[in-house]
Amino acid sequence: MRIYLDNSATTKPYPEVAAAMQEALAEGWGNPSGIHSFGRDAYDAMSRAREQVAELIGAEPGEIYFTSGGTEADNLALLGGAGRFERGHIITSSIEHAAVLNSCRHLAGQGFAVTYLAPDAGGRIDAAQVEAALQPDTLLVSIMLANNEIGSIQPLAEIGELLAGRGVLLHTDAVQAVGKMPVNVEELGVDMLTLSGHKINGPKGAGALYVRHGVEMEPLLWGGGQERGLRSGTENLPGIVGLGEAARLTRERWPRQAAQAAAARQSFWDRLRLLTEGFVLNGDWENRLPNNLNLSFAGVDGAALLLFLDMAGVAVSAASACSSAKPEPSHVLQALGVEEWRLKSAVRLSFGWENTTEEAVRAAEIFAEQLRWLRQD
Ligand code: PLP
Repeated sequence: MRIYLDNSATTKPYPEVAAAMQEALAEGWGNPSGIHSFGRDAYDAMSRAREQVAELIGAEPGEIYFTSGGTEADNLALLGGAGRFERGHIITSSIEHAAVLNSCRHLAGQGFAVTYLAPDAGGRIDAAQVEAALQPDTLLVSIMLANNEIGSIQPLAEIGELLAGRGVLLHTDAVQAVGKMPVNVEELGVDMLTLSGHKINGPKGAGALYVRHGVEMEPLLWGGGQERGLRSGTENLPGIVGLGEAARLTRERWPRQAAQAAAARQSFWDRLRLLTEGFVLNGDWENRLPNNLNLSFAGVDGAALLLFLDMAGVAVSAASACSSAKPEPSHVLQALGVEEWRLKSAVRLSFGWENTTEEAVRAAEIFAEQLRWLRQD
């Protein structure tokens, strides 16, 4: 038996998504820009997907721009949002995904000033910190809705309220939040929002940026002017159709699926506490995604534990999937100020709706067995 507890890294596509993509690839292969019936069919399929994504987050279809995933959408939000200005100030947090952090570093190299807000020990940024950091030339604030390593949920609606009417753009990376909690662009008060297909049982290489009507952006890609001039290039129709189908199903199913993931997480936690000790939770229990656990284990190396678990059939991450190939400790845990041993022994578990209680209990037993091995020597 193999147990997959790495759903924040990626998720298994719904069968309906695979079927819709197969059809788009084999049958609906026209170019959406074509004016003949082949093109119109492709355009219609793309429009349907745009509606499905818009409905998932309470936006209008004309506010959805398809991208090659979360990374591109983050880059477009930051570089495209700041692109109309020569200089200015940007506020973000030190626990953002690399797609936001490295976009900010790039902008800093171009002469923009960037403030990185530090979270509290539980992983939260306060709206008051954003307020205190505002400067007369602040043009953009980018704070993620939920963190990919520790699952901490940020008070975006409060930040949105704070910035309303100030002429400062608000972007949120909601890649990990969508499908796990309510995500509505009006309630959050954001101008831009990033989402990614493969985190919601959709395809990899397909994502979207929501851009509120009236927000002016600079494109990153120049060409034939697709996506209303903001993202040139012939559209990835199978990916877009798959993303649309994933959005439709996520909208229907997320409350039950998030509860299923939370139940699996609880079963794991309860059993692990019975079987072993010497571990701590990184980040607060409160304001945490229902599917995330980030644990540090005294006396073990996180990378070694991950390998032992993999050999025993349990798939988890050392920190975030994108950075686990690098030996550096997690920038998120460092920002929380945790001790060295916790940095070195951290493991992220991210449960999915398909994880059963039995699987979660079995995974906890395997954890306890592998910890016994590793702690012996
Ligand atoms: N933002 C967050 C919070 C993520 O977790 C990820 C993926 O791990 C991304 C952005 C990047 O998304 P994608 O893999 O679609 O480029």
